Amino acid sequence: MSILLTPARTARLFAAVAAQQQAFPSKQHPVPLPSCPACRRRPQQIVIEAYGTRVDFDQCGHVFALTREALLAGLAAQRAV
Ligand SMILES: [Zn+2]
Repeated sequence: MSILLTPARTARLFAAVAAQQQAFPSKQHPVPLPSCPACRRRPQQIVIEAYGTRVDFDQCGHVFALTREALLAGLAAQRAV
């Protein structure tokens, strides 16, 4: 089940993912992965694909994908706020 988020929500989700990935190397104060925007469960995995990034929420079955186009749209939406 793939879910389409608004650009702003997509940007927030993946900004949280990016923060987690950047913080990961320290491992002393790991940033928790963002919860599912749809149901707030914890994510199963984050997959970096050629077309972008995919976040799988295994417990609820939600899948969120961020393409480069969606990322750019999300960033533009954030700037517009
Ligand atoms: Zn979910």
